[in-house]
Amino acid sequence: MPVKDGNSLYAGLTDILGQEFVSKEPEELYIYSRDSSANPPRPVDYVVMPSSVEEVQAIVKLASSKGIPLIPMGAALNLEGLTLPLKGGIVVDMRRMDKIIEVSEMDRYALVEAGVSQGKLISYLEEKYPMLQHSVPDAPPSATVAGSCLICGYGHLSTNYGTHAEMVNGLEVVLPTGEILRTGSAMLSTSLWFGRGSLPDLTGLFLGWLGTTGIVTKLSIRLYPRPPIRDMVIYMMQDSSIVPDVVYRITHTEVAEDVSIVGQERPEWMKGYQIIAAYVSAHTEKELDLKKSYLKRISKEEFKSKVSFMEEAPGELKEQFMELPFFATKVADWKKGGGFEYVGAIMPIDTLPEAWEKGIDIAHRFDMLYSYAIRVVEGGHHVLFTYSYPFNRADEVSMHNALSALKETQKLSLALGAIPWKPEVDGQKEIIKKMDKGTFKLMQRIRKLLDPGGIMNPGNWEVD
Ligand SMILES: Cc1cc2nc3c(=O)[nH]c(=O)nc-3n(C[C@H](O)[C@H](O)[C@H](O)COP(=O)(O)OP(=O)(O)OC[C@H]3O[C@@H](n4cnc5c(N)ncnc54)[C@H](O)[C@@H]3O)c2cc1C
Repeated sequence: MPVKDGNSLYAGLTDILGQEFVSKEPEELYIYSRDSSANPPRPVDYVVMPSSVEEVQAIVKLASSKGIPLIPMGAALNLEGLTLPLKGGIVVDMRRMDKIIEVSEMDRYALVEAGVSQGKLISYLEEKYPMLQHSVPDAPPSATVAGSCLICGYGHLSTNYGTHAEMVNGLEVVLPTGEILRTGSAMLSTSLWFGRGSLPDLTGLFLGWLGTTGIVTKLSIRLYPRPPIRDMVIYMMQDSSIVPDVVYRITHTEVAEDVSIVGQERPEWMKGYQIIAAYVSAHTEKELDLKKSYLKRISKEEFKSKVSFMEEAPGELKEQFMELPFFATKVADWKKGGGFEYVGAIMPIDTLPEAWEKGIDIAHRFDMLYSYAIRVVEGGHHVLFTYSYPFNRADEVSMHNALSALKETQKLSLALGAIPWKPEVDGQKEIIKKMDKGTFKLMQRIRKLLDPGGIMNPGNWEVD
């Protein structure tokens, strides 16, 4: 539905940003009205690219005075259509706000603007602070650091340190009314970004809300030591029922930095296997060898013939496994149409065998190859299970199959007692149906309080 009051809105936006950073050109709106997910395109009225918190504030005030929806966007790589407007409006592309403001080596954090990409932060730290790292998701490097934190994403340090939301020390946010607030230690001073501390934790008002409560303009994220040597132990098994126990043993050693499980039908040799990659890092070769042998010993002792090791992964494969981001991006095009979407579900570890078998069944019923990537989170308290489905956008049957498989997988994950991760709009509605009624009412009241005009990414986390 096109927004009303077009001319004066456009004039207002160009007053704030200049013509160069406001667009209503059809060819540019075309790009912003679709993403790489299986979601159909949805119309966008304007795109704006602010470069400062003051500009974001002015845009929000203008949109609020006219009741126009605002859709905050990082790199639109969420794979769920979350930055495609459900009720038209202005897409706020944050990527010009890409300054790395501060790195505190001592307190191990980076304060960045909301448009800073994963790739930019990786290179910056490698060059200036090689002893530090942040948790890198397997998303393309153009994905923003903020986007990943705000959707409670996962990266290569999540096995030990939790989701990216948990790695946030504090946020600067422009509220839907145009007011600015800061959370965490920055509540006390604009120069304090070291932690969330013991004050009321308002950061959660913006994590997992999918851009419906405000526009984040800055965030401080935790950094972690980066030992100079990294390697991996690869476990292979063909019996999914033992995977939870193997994961339990591995995580109980507290030796692995990251534990991921993959299963896919291509290349051919991977078919039928569950492959667990336990990454280790160390300061010396001796430490590394000790950690690797410890990880191997537990499995040899307890799982005898059922678990084998890929002692020497073929060169290219190992390189891919060791890459950050991981090689997920390279297996996304099996249907030769460039499309790829996954359902992510956060689930207890003992659910894995059932999730695995039922997922294979769904993939095969809809003429797909199965492809899983699972990340063990927070030292083994749960896992993030992602079921991926490739599709060819030019092929109707392929699209139909992908959409049906995605829908069924959403249902499967809810039935398994999992929490669907960054759900697209239909998935959100399914979650709301299952959600405690009192909790959903409180969510609605919080939204009404923060966003009385209902302008922030409307249609998300709503019943209708
Ligand atoms: C091949 C592939 C692999 C992936 N692997 C992973 C993975 O391993 N781990 C992982 O976590 N994710 C993964 N993803 C998903 C996704 O790419 C990432 O989560 C990514 O970090 C999202 O960032 P983005 O900048 O694209 O956010 P967007 O998609 O632009 O935004 C995500 C959500 O956050 C909101 N938002 C964005 N910026 C702001 C802001 N400044 N203020 C308020 N709201 C905002 C948006 O409205 C939207 O609801 C993968 C994606 C692909 C394509």
